[in-house]
Amino acid sequence: MTEPKIASKAAPVRFEGVSKVFGRDVTAVDNIDLHVEAGKLVTLLGPSGCGKTTTLRMIAGLEMASSGRIMIGDRDVTRLPATDRDVSMVFQSYALFPHMSVLENVMYGLTFSGFDKNESRTRALHGLDLVGLKGFDNRLPSELSGGQQQRVAVARALVLEPQVLLFDEPLSNLDAKLRRQVREDIRAIQQDLGLTVVYVTHDQEEALAVSDEIVVMRNAGIAQIGTPRQLYDAPIDRFVADFIGEANLISCTIISVEADVATVEIEGYRHSLPSRGMPPGPATLAVRPSRIMIGPDTGIAATVAKATYVGVRMEYTLTGDFGQVFAVQDDVDEPLETGAQVRMSFAARGPVLLPEG
Ligand code: ADP
Ligand code: MG
Repeated sequence: MTEPKIASKAAPVRFEGVSKVFGRDVTAVDNIDLHVEAGKLVTLLGPSGCGKTTTLRMIAGLEMASSGRIMIGDRDVTRLPATDRDVSMVFQSYALFPHMSVLENVMYGLTFSGFDKNESRTRALHGLDLVGLKGFDNRLPSELSGGQQQRVAVARALVLEPQVLLFDEPLSNLDAKLRRQVREDIRAIQQDLGLTVVYVTHDQEEALAVSDEIVVMRNAGIAQIGTPRQLYDAPIDRFVADFIGEANLISCTIISVEADVATVEIEGYRHSLPSRGMPPGPATLAVRPSRIMIGPDTGIAATVAKATYVGVRMEYTLTGDFGQVFAVQDDVDEPLETGAQVRMSFAARGPVLLPEG
């Protein structure tokens, strides 16, 4: 395997106890610690209003921290205005100049930061090439599709070769198909060039797809930080389990713990899994829809309340004394009927224990 590339100017970002209070009593960001390694793409993920944009704007210098310290590389930037930071940002609304050509839009920041016209032009053309817009340089933004306009916005930020590149929900104005395409492009460019990127989204699938690491935010704080796999496989609590991918939360009882292996019981059905430090007693089991097995014989009694064919798989809603769960099954050839009485069990790997509550 080749070493991941790191762009020469890509810098790490560090937050130490950073808070942002608006007015007297809106704490938008509450005492967070954060470390983004150089050359990595880190996503801030969380529901609307949890403080993602404010965090991003504090990196850019568009908001000043109320307390704490922000480092970019070796430099303490906490009190520096945006113009003195080497950071560029791609917004949700592409914010292109409508009367300028694509090339002029991309050249604008370069000329502004002191490159002569020829150099700006060369760099801008290279940037357009990188985002797959070679040959579009003389068009006006209005002559491009939404996806192409967003690529221009990406090129415009990229060519400045900032220490940190910021994206605030860059795909939210695109339709579903384009969203997948552009997010893959952004990730490919970030990896090819080795850029430090902080990326904001409220879409968990997008976060799982593009990130080296995800920071899950909740109520102005950090709920959990981890790789996509860590968050998906070992969410720390209900909030993260439910926010990252769908999870069925089922009440259970831990009946014994031996050498970090817990045995849980639900209506007489037993399952063993990592205890994650939890003692015997009531707990919650988080089970992904694909980790639920449905059969005639073993497991918890359930009724098929809903069966939906979605082409590549079957989706089932099961109900029983445990409540309701959502399950997906690959077998589309012999689907279960609504109303069928079945038994539900869990795949050996996949379910995780969460603290009660
Ligand atoms: P997100 O991007 O996660 O949706 P924001 O960072 O935009 O969240 O906002 C976090 C909180 O701070 C919200 O409650 C929002 O209303 C508040 N907020 C954001 N910007 C301002 C502002 N300029 N003045 C007052 N409150 C603000
Ligand atoms: Mg926002």
